[in-house]
Amino acid sequence: MEQATQAAYSVLTQAEGPVERKFAARENPSRLLGLFAILSVLSVAMILALSGIGFHRVIQNEMMTVAEEKAHQFANAIFAQERATLLHHDKGRPVIAVAEADFAALDKRMKQTLINFDMYKIKAFSADRTIVYSTDHKIIGKVEDLNDKLAEVIVRDTVVSVLEHKESVRDLAGEERFNIDVVECYIPIKVGPSVVGAFEVYVEVTSTHARIERALKGSLAILAGVLVVVFALLFLPLRRGMIGLKSAQDYLRELASIDTLTGVFNRRHLLNRVQEEQARLRRTAGKAVAPVVSFLMIDIDHFKKINDTYGHLGGDQVLRQVTHRLKKCLRQYDVLGRYGGEEFLVMLPNTRLDQALVVAERMRHAVCGTPTPLEDGQGATVSVSIGVSTVTDHGQDIAAAIARADDGLYRAKNNGRNQVCALDDTARLDAQAAPIAGALPQIS
Ligand code: GH3
Ligand code: MG
Ligand code: MG
Repeated sequence: MEQATQAAYSVLTQAEGPVERKFAARENPSRLLGLFAILSVLSVAMILALSGIGFHRVIQNEMMTVAEEKAHQFANAIFAQERATLLHHDKGRPVIAVAEADFAALDKRMKQTLINFDMYKIKAFSADRTIVYSTDHKIIGKVEDLNDKLAEVIVRDTVVSVLEHKESVRDLAGEERFNIDVVECYIPIKVGPSVVGAFEVYVEVTSTHARIERALKGSLAILAGVLVVVFALLFLPLRRGMIGLKSAQDYLRELASIDTLTGVFNRRHLLNRVQEEQARLRRTAGKAVAPVVSFLMIDIDHFKKINDTYGHLGGDQVLRQVTHRLKKCLRQYDVLGRYGGEEFLVMLPNTRLDQALVVAERMRHAVCGTPTPLEDGQGATVSVSIGVSTVTDHGQDIAAAIARADDGLYRAKNNGRNQVCALDDTARLDAQAAPIAGALPQIS
């Protein structure tokens, strides 16, 4: 028994067992499945967002290129048609300007050409960014020196275009139109190699833009549907596998904590529970009510003789029967485990020493009260000796309490067996401990 006490000390100071470590919370199949579901949703959202942005960019660029080409053709046609009216020479240098006398006729021709090309607005700039002609007459003569796009076109001889959404615009007929998408194109006016001005042409793309948006939304909806189906198809077998894995884990956990012969906790799990109780005691330090937990160390008397008389299988049956009888004397939250060959340890939370002694006495009586029936019809007379101890302080060492219960058991054996013995001072402990209201189980 001294050896058993040493073993209790060493096991109680060990960390949790390998099985518990293997089934750490983060490896729990339910959590992994949840993680997969979250990652799937995030993946679908990211795939949709990235492909949406990508598709939109490609299609919009295509639309802008088409609008730019149209604006370019239109600007070339206008300049070819109005070259004589727009191009003048100042001290030998070509300049873009409109003579007052030419304005009315130019305006008429411009508007007609715009209608023919299905455009609704144009501006012509001189090289110094002055508006020399516009379908909107009010702005003629203004200088757009803050217009960076215009500056880029004139300085760098390039075409610049930008997609704009207009809440409301007035068309050539003077009618107001709402929510219009236009591509504003700036096209350089060139004489030989030099840029002498620029056109700003507005190409309306409202219906094209709306068609693109509709097609894009449709494609994304189809893609979303496909992705949901793909992830659902992946999720379902994974879920089935995870459920199987979970039940295998539960089974393994049970196997790892249960003694196969008697069906009660095995030594390893028993000592884990004792460790947890020790941690709970330390956590409650400082609380007004002092903790109380009792331990029973139970050993079957002359078990070797039982084995000798009924054989090893008969001995096994006695072990099962004794376990069954011991279990019936306990409450649901009491912890019973097989500590060694024919030795059991019981932990009784919230139980004073006097109450633990009553439970121990009931257990002793439950075992020896009637012969233990065996399969071949025989009845074995079996008895147990029980050592009892109690912890009544937050700081107390549970391993030491188990050792005291073991010493009590040793004393019970020495005193003749089939008896209960506690070395703790009953009167002192009961005076210290708070009264416990919980009912103790009755022997049926
Ligand atoms: P005591 O009253 O002093 O406890 O005497 P005992 O004969 O019970 O003491 P001892 O500890 O020397 O013997 C225990 C025996 O229990 C020895 C071992 O063969 C037997 N035993 C241990 N585990 C099992 C088991 O699982 N099944 C069976 N049938 N016997 C077991
Ligand atoms: Mg024994
Ligand atoms: Mg023994």
